[in-house]
Amino acid sequence: MDPFQLVVATVLSAQCTDARVNLTTPALFARYPDAASLAEARQDEVEALVRSTGFFRNKARNLIGLGQALMARHSGHVPSDPAALGALPGVGQKTANVVLANAFGVPALAVDTHIFRVARRLGLSTATTPEKVEADLCRRFPREDWIGLHHQLIFHGRRVCDARRPECASCPLLDLCPTGLGELVDPHLGVRFTPALEGQRPSGVRKSDTPGMTLTIEASASLGGRQRPPSPQRIISLVPSVTELLVQWGLAAHLVGRTRYCIEPRWIRTTIPTVGGTKDPDLGRIRDLAPDLVLLERDENPKAVADALTAMGIPWLALEIHTVKDCAVALRRLGAVLGVLETAEVRAAALELSLKGRRRKGPRTLALIWRDPWMCAGPDTYPGDLLRQTGLTPIGPARYPTLTDSELEALAPQLILLPSEPFRFNQRHQAGLQKRFPDAVVRLVDGRALTWYLSRTEAGLELARSLSPFSQQT
Ligand code: SF4
Repeated sequence: MDPFQLVVATVLSAQCTDARVNLTTPALFARYPDAASLAEARQDEVEALVRSTGFFRNKARNLIGLGQALMARHSGHVPSDPAALGALPGVGQKTANVVLANAFGVPALAVDTHIFRVARRLGLSTATTPEKVEADLCRRFPREDWIGLHHQLIFHGRRVCDARRPECASCPLLDLCPTGLGELVDPHLGVRFTPALEGQRPSGVRKSDTPGMTLTIEASASLGGRQRPPSPQRIISLVPSVTELLVQWGLAAHLVGRTRYCIEPRWIRTTIPTVGGTKDPDLGRIRDLAPDLVLLERDENPKAVADALTAMGIPWLALEIHTVKDCAVALRRLGAVLGVLETAEVRAAALELSLKGRRRKGPRTLALIWRDPWMCAGPDTYPGDLLRQTGLTPIGPARYPTLTDSELEALAPQLILLPSEPFRFNQRHQAGLQKRFPDAVVRLVDGRALTWYLSRTEAGLELARSLSPFSQQT
């Protein structure tokens, strides 16, 4: 299920069983496969398709509004930002959490009716609202377990801890459960259960001193919960665009650290701890976070960082990206290491396909990246190759050199790009350079599209195509 289908199904699930939603969605998605088609839908047609889920008029109105809002505000895509998601029609906190966790791998713990009941019976919370139960659970369990725990508690609530007839005698969590042991009045039914006889208890379940922490382990084993693949589970990324890529791939739950420059998507700024900068990460902090993989890039992070990680026995992987083709290689490499090879392959193959075609020699293009002193991205860098792919001719010395005023003039650029980062070029700089190079075109451009490889390479190619005189042919 893609993010769009997931958000639609979750909106439909309000006051409705999952089985009913599953019966409804195939016809709905066949008729409205994306936000664009839903935005144009007729109210009566959507009502007819979702009638059996209850509250169908309201749900139909919300779904059409959802499609329209996605088209108007997010180019038809479901946003991964909690605030933007929560602002969509029909999407409350619970729906937002479900979508964040399941579509984007964002650690979140949406409390539905099953989780609310099971958590209170297990004594994990005494709160009386889903929001407060959620807060209690989030306090008790490590962030990386939230998504798994969400599914485990729902599964347990459906299969074992039924609302009216909990199967306490065969429950694998009985020894952890004050309600099942008769120590607590059932907060759901308001009665005290008679404890099961010792011989009726399932074997192999021990009473724990720390029930909160043990529950996940027991539940994983007993309930057939997720089996962790051998891929890394605690990742620190020291590369801003790689951090963003991991979130795009739904691996946010495994991100335990980032640099202070890893700031996209915005919500990670408040949820994932920082470990310093890209050039000078805090190695002690990295060690304390006990990562099983640190991701690096050879231009972005100094070799000394990799050496220090090796000395501490922390595994690392360093990418090397100078061209757009390197991105395809890096996508596959990361996909294999992180256990998302299929996702990576689709993106790498699409990227390679977009590079096919004859290249022409377009305007001499200078991509400046800094002022005082001037610095540019040379033809042998990733931004240089991005421009070359669409027929522009990147100019300048190799790598990221500094340039004097006279060296700048000697390059005789026909197109000058002023990105919004790393230096924040503005209209004043644009006007100054335009005066100095009256025959050149001077453009302010999106710095992240130009320099953030992997997570924004497609956006970078789109930007370069928009600048190229051969955009129709490339
Ligand atoms: S012991 Fe009973 S009440 Fe407790 S979690 Fe198991 S089924 Fe639910």
